[in-house]
Amino acid sequence: MPGTTTDPVRKAIELPGLGPCILVDTAGYGDPGALGAERERRSRATIDATDIAVLLRSGHPEDDRWLQLLKTAQVPVVEVPGRPLIPDLGNTVIPDLIRNLQAARPDEKPRFLTGGLVGQGDVVVLVMPQDSEAPKGRLILPQVQVLRELLDLGCIPVCCQPEGLQRALDSLSAPPSLTITDSQAFAKVNAILPADYPLTSFSILLAGAKGDIRTFRESAKAIDSLKPGDRVLIAEACTHVPDTEDIGRVKIPNLLRKKVGGDLAVTIAAGNDFPDDLTPYRLIIQCGGCVATERLLRSRIKKALLAGVPITNYGIALAALTGILDRVVIPRS
Ligand code: SF4
Repeated sequence: MPGTTTDPVRKAIELPGLGPCILVDTAGYGDPGALGAERERRSRATIDATDIAVLLRSGHPEDDRWLQLLKTAQVPVVEVPGRPLIPDLGNTVIPDLIRNLQAARPDEKPRFLTGGLVGQGDVVVLVMPQDSEAPKGRLILPQVQVLRELLDLGCIPVCCQPEGLQRALDSLSAPPSLTITDSQAFAKVNAILPADYPLTSFSILLAGAKGDIRTFRESAKAIDSLKPGDRVLIAEACTHVPDTEDIGRVKIPNLLRKKVGGDLAVTIAAGNDFPDDLTPYRLIIQCGGCVATERLLRSRIKKALLAGVPITNYGIALAALTGILDRVVIPRS
């Protein structure tokens, strides 16, 4: 029914052959006026994070324009005739759609977050602060993913909080092959870990797996040339309720202000609200993107580079601001 959907509506769904997916229902197109333009803007913003698009063809003259938009963005498209009869839905339309989605699924190379840094039998120390920012009763997604990967690789993970790091190291009979910390604990960990022990962070591993670590590293140099009054964009890939010690809204801006010796104009863009015009910014700092798709992060990097604005991420920025960027190791593959 026209006008039923205004903002994109998201639903988590497990699809056979595809696994866990987020289904995003966008507004119908062609609505007139300012509201219609705003709906289109929000629908277009979802393209950046879309792995496969389903185009419900209704015979509307806009069908072909949207098909072209999706093709230009290199999103695989599954086309479905607009208004199937209800009895056909379960019998043919949905089974056909699932088959076509499976066929359109982008090739996925197996990706290792630890990217060649560790292998079978290596002891890896994980430093995971469970402070007020940590979710109640569980680990955050990147920590769970890294832990699982280490087990799959046959490594021996040793987990601790920053306060327990020295004791964890003392309990080992040899130096760990790698220490992976929450980026926010870089300063504490760096003060304890001997300088020749390899160190990285969960956010840096994420950047290696689905961002562009070289661009992030290169762009971090822009931190040194920031001046008071410059505009900095903090880009979060999801919306969340910020803590008083929020890394993107409080800690990084405060460290940047301290570094430049004055105030900065810091803008926060949460979820899909990544600005169309990036040119006013001197630097973009992207979050770790733990729940973002690789496609979304790469499209943001591309937009930033096209606008000539350096883009780094939380982990690399924190390493640079702590003065240990040269010390941290980055994934090799
Ligand atoms: S997607 Fe980004 S903002 Fe959201 S929880 Fe993960 S790192 Fe934080």
